[in-house]
Amino acid sequence: MTPYDVMVIGSGFAGMAASLFAANRGLSVVQAGATGGIDFSTGFLDLLAVHPVWEGRVWEDPFAALAALRADLPDHPYCRVTDEEITTALDEFTAFLAAQGLCYTGRPRRNTATLTAAGTIKYTWRLPCSAWSGVEALESRAPALVVDFHGLKGFSAKQIAEVRADWPHLRTARIHFPGLRGELFPEHMAWSLTDPQVRIDLAAAVSPLLGDAQFVGFPAVLGLTDTMEVVRHLEKLLGRRVFEIPTVPPSIAGPRLRAAFDRGLAPLGVHTYTQKLITAVHIHAEGFVLTAGSGVTAVEIPARAAILATGRFFGKGLVADRTCVREAVFGIPVTQPKQRSLWHQAQFFAPRGHPINQAGVETDAAFRPLGANGTVFHPRLYAAGAILAHQDWARMKCGAGLAIATAFKAVDDLCTRLH
Ligand SMILES: Cc1cc2nc3c(=O)[nH]c(=O)nc-3n(C[C@H](O)[C@H](O)[C@H](O)COP(=O)(O)OP(=O)(O)OC[C@H]3O[C@@H](n4cnc5c(N)ncnc54)[C@H](O)[C@@H]3O)c2cc1C
Repeated sequence: MTPYDVMVIGSGFAGMAASLFAANRGLSVVQAGATGGIDFSTGFLDLLAVHPVWEGRVWEDPFAALAALRADLPDHPYCRVTDEEITTALDEFTAFLAAQGLCYTGRPRRNTATLTAAGTIKYTWRLPCSAWSGVEALESRAPALVVDFHGLKGFSAKQIAEVRADWPHLRTARIHFPGLRGELFPEHMAWSLTDPQVRIDLAAAVSPLLGDAQFVGFPAVLGLTDTMEVVRHLEKLLGRRVFEIPTVPPSIAGPRLRAAFDRGLAPLGVHTYTQKLITAVHIHAEGFVLTAGSGVTAVEIPARAAILATGRFFGKGLVADRTCVREAVFGIPVTQPKQRSLWHQAQFFAPRGHPINQAGVETDAAFRPLGANGTVFHPRLYAAGAILAHQDWARMKCGAGLAIATAFKAVDDLCTRLH
């Protein structure tokens, strides 16, 4: 069997980005992976919003934040990518999503303040176009109505209004979702709204509640693959600007992103093993033979290079036992606190975060992991995303940006070595 140019191990943000960038550059790509952070994300693409985490300083200008971060944290993976590489990577990523019907927007070179399901404000780099009118409503504090639904857990319009006491003209309403009763799930609601009649029924239920509202916010359930069509249809029916607010995980944002990649990567030639993990690796001078799955369905895949995008504990790229943390696929050394008692701070919400959330693999400047002796583990093995050491993406609000930018840099270097 002819080896693939590259095997991407993982199908979270880092894995999807690595597959996209490699395929766009003409490499033959095979990818394996299961559920990851992308399936639970809000749909926001964060670049960098908080630094230093111990001060909780929030930045509107992510490039000023990056400059400060690079001065303070010389081991952070963002020190190995330039601002230009980061923006190019994110632009290529969002252009792909747009081509798949998933429109993203934001301000040139700025983070945007946007509403969360809790009613708090989060600064992010790019957000789904379906959330944009909410940004304008929030900024202007214009009269607005937020609607929630009987039976939908984890999304309370009333809570949002209570937290946003600085938005006195924000009103709320709870209604029944047309045609559905009992406990509601975002995915079912999104599917049902693909039917234009359900949108008409929904608008009919909301219309009497509009009052002076100029904007109407809904939980993010407005369609799966056709969100902007649903938003525009509701705007026409209601005569108001309509926006989505992300729901708590598992939300519809993850399935929307995954569906976009499922649609868009195959035509680029990416061969995908979904819901299959790499269970064994044979390393040789020319590359790798990786086993995907186990038992009778196991498949052996030869590849000249590999990109490890398996995430941290949530993604299962790192596994912990009573004494230490291990990298699960190759057994690459993991930088980690010296002993288990140092993994966590005494306080759960300690502003500095927990040392275990900085654990990960060390790499060279091109994101090639380092082996036990401090030299490159394999000349054509790369790592990208949450598995990288010295970053706490959740506290710094840099999850997707870090994953996408490091995947970009890894693929860029790989291209120079393969051609
Ligand atoms: C609840 C939640 C909300 C989030 N919200 C946001 C947000 O608003 N904005 C933002 O920017 N980011 C957000 N993130 C972060 C983001 O989704 C990613 O978790 C993060 O960017 C890291 O991505 P990753 O691809 O490196 O790792 P992961 O997302 O953890 O993906 C790891 C992948 O590797 C696969 N894998 C693991 N082991 C193997 C193996 N042996 N073989 C093959 N595949 C394997 C997993 O199945 C998975 O597909 C959120 C994450 C979570 C969990």
